[in-house]
Parts: sequence; C-alpha cells; structure tokens
Amino acid sequence: MESQQPSLFPEDQPPWELDAAEHFLVGKIVFAEPPFGPFDYRIPDDLVGSVRPGMRVRVPLGKSNRGVTGYCIAVESIRWRGDRLKDILSLLDADPLCSSKLLELIRWMAQYYVVPLGQVFESVIPAGVRTSAGVKTRVVLLASSKTDDMQQLERLPPKQLEVMKALLAAKQPLTLEHLRKRANCSTGPIQQLRRNGWIDSREEYYVEDRPSTEPITPVTKPMLSEDQRSAFEVVEEALDSGKHQTVLLHGVTGSGKTEVYMEAIEKVIGFGRQAIVLVPEISLTPQTRARFQERFAHVSVVHSHLTDAERHYQWRLALAGAVSVVIGPRSAIFAPVPNLGLIILDEEHESSFKQETIPRYHARDVALHRAFLENIPLVLGSATPSLESWNRVRCGTYRHASLPRRIYNRPMPSVRIIDLRSRRQGEGVGIISPQLRDAIEQTIHDQGQTILLLNRRGFATTIQCPACGRVLACPNCDLPLTHHRDGGKSVCHYCDFTMMTPSMCPSCNYEGIHFYGTGTQKLEIEVRNLFPNAEIARMDSDTMKRPGSHERVLDSFRSGKLQILLGTQMIAKGLDFPNVLLVGVVHADTALHFPDFRAAERTFQLIAQVAGRAGRGDRAGQVLVQTFSPEHFAILAASRHDFEQFASAELNHRQQYGYPPFASLARIIVRGESQKATEDFAELVGRSLNRINEVAQLHCRILGPALPPIAKLRNKYRFHLFVSSTALADLIHLLTRFAGETTAPSEIQFVIDVDPVDML
Ligand code: ADP
Ligand code: ZN
Repeated sequence: MESQQPSLFPEDQPPWELDAAEHFLVGKIVFAEPPFGPFDYRIPDDLVGSVRPGMRVRVPLGKSNRGVTGYCIAVESIRWRGDRLKDILSLLDADPLCSSKLLELIRWMAQYYVVPLGQVFESVIPAGVRTSAGVKTRVVLLASSKTDDMQQLERLPPKQLEVMKALLAAKQPLTLEHLRKRANCSTGPIQQLRRNGWIDSREEYYVEDRPSTEPITPVTKPMLSEDQRSAFEVVEEALDSGKHQTVLLHGVTGSGKTEVYMEAIEKVIGFGRQAIVLVPEISLTPQTRARFQERFAHVSVVHSHLTDAERHYQWRLALAGAVSVVIGPRSAIFAPVPNLGLIILDEEHESSFKQETIPRYHARDVALHRAFLENIPLVLGSATPSLESWNRVRCGTYRHASLPRRIYNRPMPSVRIIDLRSRRQGEGVGIISPQLRDAIEQTIHDQGQTILLLNRRGFATTIQCPACGRVLACPNCDLPLTHHRDGGKSVCHYCDFTMMTPSMCPSCNYEGIHFYGTGTQKLEIEVRNLFPNAEIARMDSDTMKRPGSHERVLDSFRSGKLQILLGTQMIAKGLDFPNVLLVGVVHADTALHFPDFRAAERTFQLIAQVAGRAGRGDRAGQVLVQTFSPEHFAILAASRHDFEQFASAELNHRQQYGYPPFASLARIIVRGESQKATEDFAELVGRSLNRINEVAQLHCRILGPALPPIAKLRNKYRFHLFVSSTALADLIHLLTRFAGETTAPSEIQFVIDVDPVDML
C-alpha cells in the first residue's frame, strides 16, 4: 500500500512562486460532482479583484489536472501554509450568478438538506443560465479610472468630452452603438478615447430584447371587502415594520386571497422593490397569469415548460431589476431579483412545493429562510393550511390573518356525507350512489355544472383472478397494475410498465380475469351511461398528456358547453367556475388509509378544496361525499368546513405520537438491485446512525430499517429508516456526520430526505 504521509509536493510539481508574499487570495471552490469540495485555489494575479463569490471558474482537478467547472463560494486571504495550491484557470462569469443573500441561502440549504453545496448551486441556477442558452456576448465600453481626474477630463477636446459625459451619465457600460447614439457622434472620438485609456472595454453576456408578447390592458381593481381590508392591514403592518415576519392568510375557498396578495405587491412595488409569488404549477393557468399581468407591468412568469433560452432570459431580466413580480412554481423562490420586498406562497399546504430530487427542498421552508435573510415579510395563503404552519400560528411565531367568508358573503356549500357501507349487495352495483345520481340529474335540470372527483386514474385499480386470487403486479415494482380500457393495457403507475391485459390468469389459466376498484375511466363510462345526453369530459394525467389539452377542457367547461367534469385531484384545486352547483367526491377514502402520518390531513384538504369549487357564483352549491368511513374525524370536519376543529384534533394526535410538527423528521431510503445487499446495507445504516447518536450524545430516535410501502420500485429493492428528534440541530448533526462517514457500495444508493413528504 502506498504511504499516506502528506507530502509537500504530492504531484512532484513545484508550488506556485514560493517566495511571493506570505498572504495571498484563494477562492473556495465547490463542485456539483464528487469530489464536491470545497477546495482552495489560488487566484492568479490577473484575476485578483475579478473572482467573486457566486461566480463560476475553471480549475484543474485531480492528478490529471483535468479542467472542471466549479462555483466560488468565498474569497479569502490566507497565509501560505506550505501546501501546494493550484491556480484558478479562468473565470466564466463577468458578474456573480447570485447575490450574497442567495449565496447564503444556498449554504443554508446545503446544510439543512445535507446536500453538497455544488449540487444546490446546480438546482438554484437554472441550466439555461449555466449553459448561457440563447445569449450572445458583446463588447461594452465603460469609463476608465482615469476619469477620476476631473481637471484632465475637462481638458479633452470638445467632441471627446461630450462622449465621456454621455458615458459617465449612463452609469452603466454601453455598446459602441449605444454610446455613439447618446453622444451623437461618429466612432472616431470614441476610438481615440479608447486608445488614450479613457475608455475601457469588456465583454458581457446579453440576451436580445424580445418584444413583449402580451400587450397589457390594465383593469380597475375591485374595492377590497372589509375582511380583505383587515387581512391586508396585517400584511401591511409586516411590510411597514421593515422586518421579517410571516403572515398566514387563512381564507376559505373563494374568499379573495389573491386580491390581498395583489394589494400587498402593489405596495412593495411602490417602494421600488420586487415580489415573488409561488403557486403550485397546476394553478399557473393563463387566468392566473392574466390576473397579475393586467394589474402589474413587468410580470415574469416562470413555469416548467420554458425553454432554456427563455428561462435564461427571464433570469437575466430579474437579475437586472427589470421585473417587478416573478410568478412561478417552487423554483421561482430562487429568482435573482436585486431588491426583494415580499414573498407570497399561495396554497402553501400543497405537496408540490416539495422537490423530490436532490436537493429535496421544500419551497415553503426555503421561502421562510430567504425572507428571513432578506429581512422581509412572507405571506402563506391557504384555505386548508398545513399543520406545520398552523402550529406556528398557535405558538405565536406566525401572525394570523383570516378571511372567514366568501366574497359577497356567498354561503359555503352544504356538504352531505353518503355512507357507502349501507348499500346492500346487488343494490346499485355502480359507483355513483342513487343520492349522487339524483343530485347530478337535478343540477343538469337547473342548468348548473357538476364536478366529480375520483383520485385514481385508469379503469380498474386491481386486476385479480377470481379463481386463484392472484393480483397482477408490476414486475419492476411489485405493485398492482391498473387496467386501462383504451387499448386494453395494464399499466404500472409508478414506472409506466405496460403490458396487454391478459384474458387468462397467468398463474392458473382461469379464463375470466376480474377487475376491481374504480378509476376515472370506469367512472366516465358509468356517468356516460347514466347521463347519455350530458356533455362530459374527463381530466386526469392520461387525457391531459398533450400540451394545451388542460386549457381546452377548462375553456369548454367555462363556456358552459360541458355539464360534467370528472377527474383526479387535477380538478380539485384553484378552479373558479361560478356555475358549478354540485361537487361529488366519489370515494373520499382513497387517501385515508395510506401508511402516511399525513393521510388524514390530505383527506381533509382534498375534500375541502374540491368542495371549494362549488357555489362560487350567485347560486348556492352543494357537495356530496361518498365514503366508507363516514365517522372519520377528517371527513366530518371537512363536511362542516371546520378547519380549526380538524387541526386541533390532528395536532393532538401528532403530538401524542411525536410526528411533525412536534418533531423534525428525516427519511433515509436505501435501494439496490440485490435484495440481500440492500437489506445488509440498510442494517449497516441503522447501526451507524445509532452509533453516532450515542457517541455524539444526540437526542434522536432511529426507526428501521423497514420495508417501505413500495418495497420494490423500477427493479430496485428498497428499505427505509426514519430519524426523528425534537431538537432539529441534533437531527442535522447526526445526518451530516452520517453522510460524511458513509459511502455505499457501488450498486447501492442511499438518499437522505429531510422533512419528507413522500412516505412511500
Ligand atoms: P381565493 O383565492 O381565496 O379562492 P380569489 O382571490 O380567486 O379567491 O377570488 C374569488 C373571486 O372573487 C374571484 O373571481 C375574484 O375576482 C373575486 N373577488 C375577489 N375580491 C373581490 C372584491 N373585493 N370584490 C369583488 N370581487 C372580488
Ligand atoms: Zn412499475
């Protein structure tokens, strides 16, 4: 074995100028791939002053000194310590890609989510920015330091003096063309000034100006209702305080939360600052965008369908301060606006704010931390707040503003629970109860519209042989396949494995395989049979695959052409159609019996949100909830629109079992192709977690390894462990140490998920 003695010049190369000054500047550089760093690199003389934190650099890495791109996270002056330092090769950015505050946010994310800094960078700085998609470079001119000498300057020939005055007045670098126009001269005097050292030049990135696509037609804003005004005053107080504060805006569905947001944004823009509005991707409809674009100039909408070039363009605009409001899903929290004044997170309870790939951040927590760093208010809005946020209201950490009534005092819809258990054998074999059927009929008769929610797509959710009991499962995931009637296929909803549904049982050859459980396809067929004359559309991820299909269905629903819209949770959220008089929850129990401590919360939210689609116009709405668990407290509370009662019961339960928000939780998932090796490694993970917990005297509880509900996914066996603690610092300490000490064998991966949302 090679000696591990540290050597001065391990690579047999002399260090850079040993006899130079004792102090010199180094850049701390991190990488997005292993080794992640940070490593110190000397800043060569010609880059001193140019290399700043938040910029990308090329540096030599490893024995081969291959050039790789890294991120500079700090510049420090150090004394030469005798170790060999390599030089930064080149600088890739003219300006930092992020402000010092964003850099601090990145550091916090790396620490909190136990992810290497370089990987956080890669997710904060969009790929289009990193690859300079769609941008060009140009030479810009700026006044040199020679201009500090006013007397010399005044002695320039008149034409040249005029050029210098124009350049100084611009307070920013100009292209030759721009400068020529501003000074109203030929290029001659400018070139003369460059030769004589009055004007410096440099290259910069730019994105060609695009004509604004939508002309903005401002609308008159409505008068705030009394409730809206008092809610706004709470937010206003936070804005005026000049300090960080979080306000939970708890407003029932249809109470006009968006108007309150917009009033606050208007105020922030008045201060010359910018606002970020985070919404779930699914709510980022053209209607939502239009509402903001009609009200404010310079709205930047960032969504997942932007091309790299467009994203880069929006990002540069934001960075330049040319955008007042950024609206987008979770990644919009990283918008590089220079003078952020307010962050709003609408539908704050939505699980789509959690990113399920590295870094597994929750935009609500990142928003909270950014608001804290920028010393600005954060507004969280929801009709069904997360229990994490609600608990902070209870503790007095967050301020509470509420909109307890709908706009114009419209009544909340009445909710009726339909007990599916009481249906006797043979009576109504379908999934629509007679009560729901009658209500739909009545609604059609009244020329209203109906929304039917069933949170399972496909036709039948279980394909089973009635003779031997075998359930058709995915060979990659070991989960039941769902039968899709179009094309007669069996599909795995986790990995998309697809096969023709056999007519014969693959185990016992019994002819006449059976389909159990109902998906939206089967619901659609039943509804079409019950109401042959009605116009019906289905909305789920199967029918919404083509871009624009979502909008087309919603448009025809809005126009009144459709009488019944049925679908998955896609239709439960955010839609504002005044003519919806009836909402039917076809099977309220789908989410209730999940092995997830948030199962009750999800069920409550889904019912309350979909119920919120009814009765938003002049006519009152009603909701019918079909369930096998009519006395479950989440379903009862949702039927009474009673969030507080639900929350207090659920929080008691969470406290009793030590679940969040009363403890911090992390999940470690181990996966690999060999079941035995995966299990062995999971056991080892458990032992090292327990050891660190003991040695470092931390107060963490370690559960597992155990089989997760999805024990096999995409051909990989899975095990998971949970670490929880009432001391967040202990939890992070444990995970950080664990991650630092642990390398998995090459065929096994482990992921750390702090504040997990997905428990499967
Ligand atoms: P929420 O987000 O709370 O469900 P919205 O902000 O979408 O509610 O408002 C519901 C409806 O009420 C929208 O059509 C909106 O234009 C309208 N609205 C909101 N505030 C007012 C107001 N002060 N006066 C009149 N209409 C309003
Ligand atoms: Zn599968």
